[in-house]
Amino acid sequence: MALRLRVDNRTRYATADLRRFFLWCIHREGAEGRTRRIEVVYSRKPGRQSYKWGQPASVHGLASYGGGWIRMKIPHGSVDGQLLARVVIHEIGHNLHLHHADMVDWWTLPIEDLPPELATLTESAPKAAPPPQDRDYVNLTKAQAAVARWASRLKRDRTWLKKWERKAKYYGRKIAAKQAACPNNGA
Ligand SMILES: [Zn+2]
Repeated sequence: MALRLRVDNRTRYATADLRRFFLWCIHREGAEGRTRRIEVVYSRKPGRQSYKWGQPASVHGLASYGGGWIRMKIPHGSVDGQLLARVVIHEIGHNLHLHHADMVDWWTLPIEDLPPELATLTESAPKAAPPPQDRDYVNLTKAQAAVARWASRLKRDRTWLKKWERKAKYYGRKIAAKQAACPNNGA
């Protein structure tokens, strides 16, 4: 059965990067046997840091025992692949029915075989704010738009004017022709 992994990503980290990372951990633990859903959220507001065992502990996990659900909390900006892998593998352990008594102290053991391309995950930069607009530039843009709008209205009005002038001329000539043909109707 093909491994099915759903990543519910609520961060600006690329889902493809997270997916590749989690797949590597799942394969490493031989945990391909079931559909898994991994939610990813931020652990802290930007710039806030929490500590555990004297180390920055900005990566947290939660998992169902014997289920296929994991929630990962990761920091803003970037996350250390070693730390992330240890927590993910620990949570996969819970999915595989392991309790803490069954597991080694995961936070002390490096993941020796972590591929170098997974050493760090970095989120995409926030969208740059538009540069502050110069007031005169804003007003120029507005004025140019108004000029275009009024020029087009003027053109339209000229067209209607010509059309009605033609009509007025036409009926004027028609009446004049009638009067010429029947002089009695005239003055
Ligand atoms: Zn645990």
